Amino acid sequence: MRRRHFLAGCAAATLSPAAFAAQNSASFEVTRTPSEWKEMLSDLEYEVMREEGTERAFTSRLNDVKAEGLFHCKGCDQALYPSETKFESGTGWPSFYAPLEDAVATKPDPGWFGTRTEVHCDRCGSHLGHVFDDGPPPTGKRHCLNGVSLVFRPAGEGEPIVG
Ligand SMILES: [Zn+2]
Repeated sequence: MRRRHFLAGCAAATLSPAAFAAQNSASFEVTRTPSEWKEMLSDLEYEVMREEGTERAFTSRLNDVKAEGLFHCKGCDQALYPSETKFESGTGWPSFYAPLEDAVATKPDPGWFGTRTEVHCDRCGSHLGHVFDDGPPPTGKRHCLNGVSLVFRPAGEGEPIVG
């Protein structure tokens, strides 16, 4: 416990005040206790969405989705990414070059291999993935997401596809 506490303190100290505030779940419009999240999510979903885990590459059924529609947050159903910005990255994770406006937020994610940019739903704080600078035009960004954090809702007819 002591070591865990120390590490948490270190990580917090490297974040800007704004980023630190973003980590505080109280700042999100939709908040749930850990046990409430556990009740509504599978173990994998909880690990990815609430503990910033990563699903195994090439496991998401959303990788192959090419239909028109919107990718929503599994935690609160907010629409996050339009299908027009999805592209084939070859990484094995659903990848997008741009989110909808005011849908996601980012924070620095310090790790063993340098600081990456973490991306999460700005309504419920659920972790989605990371943003990299090697994406296609027009943004040059690659939002590398976990399919388990998402639900695809097709435009027009069709059943939602749960990632
Ligand atoms: Zn959400």
